[in-house]
Amino acid sequence: MLGAPRARSAIRGLHGLQRAYFSSTSAAKADFTHAVIGGGVVGLAIARQLSRRPDASTVLIERHSAVGTETSSRNSEVIHAGIYYGAGSLKTRLCIRGRELLYDLCARRDVGHRRTGKWIVAQTEAQREALERIERFCREEIGVPLRWVGAREVEREGEGVRAEAGVLESPTTGIVDSHGLMVCLTGLFEDAGGVVALNSPVEDVNPLGDNGDGGWQVDVRDASTGETSAITAETIINAAGLGAVNVHNMIVPESERKKLYYAKGNYFSYGASHPRVSRLIYPAPEPGAGGLGTHLTLDLGGQLRFGPDVEWVDSPHDLAVNTARFDQAVAEIRKYLPGIDVASLRPDYAGIRPKLGKLGAVGAGKGFQDFVIRKEDGYEGWVNLLGIESPGLTSSLAIGEMVEEIMYGSVTK
Ligand SMILES: Cc1cc2nc3c(=O)[nH]c(=O)nc-3n(C[C@H](O)[C@H](O)[C@H](O)COP(=O)(O)OP(=O)(O)OC[C@H]3O[C@@H](n4cnc5c(N)ncnc54)[C@H](O)[C@@H]3O)c2cc1C
Repeated sequence: MLGAPRARSAIRGLHGLQRAYFSSTSAAKADFTHAVIGGGVVGLAIARQLSRRPDASTVLIERHSAVGTETSSRNSEVIHAGIYYGAGSLKTRLCIRGRELLYDLCARRDVGHRRTGKWIVAQTEAQREALERIERFCREEIGVPLRWVGAREVEREGEGVRAEAGVLESPTTGIVDSHGLMVCLTGLFEDAGGVVALNSPVEDVNPLGDNGDGGWQVDVRDASTGETSAITAETIINAAGLGAVNVHNMIVPESERKKLYYAKGNYFSYGASHPRVSRLIYPAPEPGAGGLGTHLTLDLGGQLRFGPDVEWVDSPHDLAVNTARFDQAVAEIRKYLPGIDVASLRPDYAGIRPKLGKLGAVGAGKGFQDFVIRKEDGYEGWVNLLGIESPGLTSSLAIGEMVEEIMYGSVTK
């Protein structure tokens, strides 16, 4: 795996590669040390991390004409604190580490972000108890700071927010400009010699030698000409988001193929200047729900938006906001923001969570699904990432570290 030659030329797309570089027998002659499939925030973070290794070359392969046009640009842009995902989960560990890394990178590289803080609001005793469990878990087990907000403070500082049964504040939650972050990661990756191959849908992936010990062949189609070409890499990292299960299924035998489920989240923007809310507002999480509940988030300009709900859909392309969901969203929002002007709500955008089952998003309750990030047994040099839903944006830089650790046993600082 180590000590591969650098990429032979600073090409921008795979289609400039000469076939002569292709070797089907020896990983040492592979075109690249690492091929990262998927140019979302997670693939970018991994590619940037791997590009820091000396004497290694990395290509990032993306099917669209730009990076970050799928789930990474269709989310709440929240830097999560890491409080929901239970003890010992990858989501908890990577979210906490990723948050620290993200705030640090944003500060050093001038990526737009703000530590807004967030209030989680309870309207019923059962919801209050759910918040108490979260507060205890964070205090006793993971050391993430939370604070109970007293009723008078809610009245005084609450900006019209209703919380009948209590408010738990998460001071480390914030927001980030996800596009700015991806521009930054792309720049860092390219500056380190990384190659971004756009318009390059991966159509097939095959291990060479004995299950990948001779490297990997990745077949990509040129999205504009339709021509297919092959590149080789010593290692592959599948970070293809909504396409990751397809890539997985290209490699494994039929009996090990997986199915992906699509949980759409619809967002509604808010055009009025009142009520004006300056922090994120989340309802208490419902055990077993596929998301965190229709919440209030802000963009960096202070504009309010609400969402996402959970709508199971059959296609990863079903990205139109479902306006039939409007009344339900209004009912959810009114529970914590009764002064909302309904006429100022508009359908905004939708994103789709890549789910490995119709399972819950929070650690409490049945059926929690963690991230899958692992070197696949029985293969050499394949790291597979499946089900990278929320908090994948927050966790992205820590996922990059984890992938390097899996591959090399160490992390390059
Ligand atoms: C509604 C919603 C709200 C969310 N809110 C938050 C939040 O507030 N905070 C947070 O931390 N996380 C949040 N998330 C999760 C976060 O957005 C994702 O975890 C993260 O963006 C995943 O990044 P990714 O790179 O894995 O996937 P993607 O952004 O989907 O990138 C995968 C890339 O792979 C490419 N690809 C796929 N197949 C192929 C192929 N065959 N060949 C070449 N390229 C391919 C795609 O074109 C795509 O660009 C939210 C997610 C959703 C859906």
